[in-house]
Amino acid sequence: MKKKTQKKPILSKSQKTYPRPSWVPDSILSEKELCPDCFKVVGERSRYNVVCILGKEKDGLTVTEITKKLSLTQPTISHHLNALQSVDAVTVTKNGTERIFKLNREAHCFEECKIPY
Ligand SMILES: [Zn+2]
Repeated sequence: MKKKTQKKPILSKSQKTYPRPSWVPDSILSEKELCPDCFKVVGERSRYNVVCILGKEKDGLTVTEITKKLSLTQPTISHHLNALQSVDAVTVTKNGTERIFKLNREAHCFEECKIPY
């Protein structure tokens, strides 16, 4: 059975979109569908929680600080941060042995697709 394809403005280079997860507020998002990059950022609830926490901290946070704020293990947080880094949603600065993570507000997901944080 063939589905009728709807003509819709395309969000980004890829045509594949994903439904917006229920935990992402949709008041700001004009589209109900997310591009693959944005889905990678918010597709897991705890990953989106990391985004929201970093969104409130202008000076950034270390993995340890994020771990304290969320009831997740450090490896899980690191895994989420790696995924966020892979789509440029966070930036990392080295401070001695510590790494400070900051939300990249200019990232495509926040600037173009308007994911709220
Ligand atoms: Zn997007």
